[in-house]
Amino acid sequence: MAGIVAVVGRPNVGKSTFFNRMIQRREAIVDAVSGVTRDRHYGKSDWAGKEFSLIDTGGYVVGSDDVFEKEIDKQVELAIAEADAILFMVDVEAGITGMDEDVARLLRKVEKPIFLVVNKVDNAARLEDAVEFYNLGLGDYYPLSSINGSGTGELLDALVKVLPDEEIPEENLPRFAVVGRPNAGKSSFINALIGEDRYIVTDIAGTTRDSIDTRYNRFGFEFNLVDTAGIRRKSKVKEDLEFYSVMRSVRAIEHSDVCLLLLDATRGFDGQVQNIFWLAERNNKGIVILVNKWDKVEKETASVKEYTQKIKEVIAPFTDVPILFISATNKQRIYKAIETAVEVYNNRSRRIPTRKLNDLMLPIIENRPPPATKGKYVKIKFITQLPTPYPQFAFFCNLPQYVKDPYKRFLENQLRKHFDFTGVPMSIFMRKK
Ligand code: GDP
Ligand code: GDP
Repeated sequence: MAGIVAVVGRPNVGKSTFFNRMIQRREAIVDAVSGVTRDRHYGKSDWAGKEFSLIDTGGYVVGSDDVFEKEIDKQVELAIAEADAILFMVDVEAGITGMDEDVARLLRKVEKPIFLVVNKVDNAARLEDAVEFYNLGLGDYYPLSSINGSGTGELLDALVKVLPDEEIPEENLPRFAVVGRPNAGKSSFINALIGEDRYIVTDIAGTTRDSIDTRYNRFGFEFNLVDTAGIRRKSKVKEDLEFYSVMRSVRAIEHSDVCLLLLDATRGFDGQVQNIFWLAERNNKGIVILVNKWDKVEKETASVKEYTQKIKEVIAPFTDVPILFISATNKQRIYKAIETAVEVYNNRSRRIPTRKLNDLMLPIIENRPPPATKGKYVKIKFITQLPTPYPQFAFFCNLPQYVKDPYKRFLENQLRKHFDFTGVPMSIFMRKK
């Protein structure tokens, strides 16, 4: 993982247009390979061989105009805390506004790389107009047009220069990230897990002391806990901001192999928990769902079975995920949680020998071949698992474009039925042979 880039700016400057252009350029490539799902506010892009995550911070802000003014401070604050580089977007059509000046004032104090992006520079006349943005006191700017793409290359050249290089982990230890909303019990869980008072636990969200990746040797397992501080760093940001938990989770998730997604049993698997879940899924990370504070739940009103069922409805079709009911404060099933995370880690690394894969899958496919489309029959000839960090399977066939999602899901389910891929997203794609 090579860096997080946040796009900040007031509404209507063109942040989402820019974001979509960046993501689509890549999606076009990625989609063909692995069928990655789209997200409106978070995506991956790359330039000159360097990959980075792009976050459209504005995409998370909803509300009326005066809400925007307050939200924009939070956007910028979060971007400063979490991103490796910040793109501050302004609009040449509108010129400098008061809100732009406010953001610029915040950014001038920041040490991280900041790129002032003057958008909507669609033609040469507007290039001249852009000069006024020197007045923001942020130095040089990058004029571009998110609509026609001109100028984006220059920006990206400069951007990738300041982004960190891909980290190659020194050791092959599983990397676990504990993620979830504020107050889900993440620090309590880690505390229970490592059995020392390394972390201060309080009732107030986000007061936990900073920490970086730490290596543990507990219960006979060795693993690294990833960037928990990124999730729990002290911040003035209001805890119920959807953006908060998502952005805080991005880095931890990207750095991990397996995410332990904690939720407060009394609050449920709500929209914000779901966002974090899909973020992990889209990043192809292993997932273990930990329903925490189970000690607080009246067992008469909600059984494990019903609770599990409800979560599965929400995470469908990716339901092959372990769901455990724990209590961090009572240290209930803490060991089981780590044991399960290690299993999921192993599942994610699982490689099925080609021979075994074909011996099993070809007869299944013969029994239930892909449905014919426009009178054409798809013939799948062989299957292979790719040498990637998470399970990806290529099915070689005559007419890859005719195989639709329901059939791909059927293939995935068959693979899951015969091999243990619990907790692990997988990609199925068709290739021409
Ligand atoms: P956001 O609120 O910052 O995410 O802004 P949007 O991406 O929704 O864009 C706001 C408006 O500006 C839309 O009508 C876009 O079509 C328009 N827009 C965005 N980029 C450009 C550009 O490069 N040139 C022009 N002329 N318009 C643009
Ligand atoms: P974080 O923000 O996700 O790190 O959450 P904390 O670990 O700070 O926990 C938030 C609050 O929930 C604290 O008051 C904890 O004592 C409480 N808490 C955490 N885990 C449990 C649990 O398993 N059961 C109960 N009853 N309370 C818990």
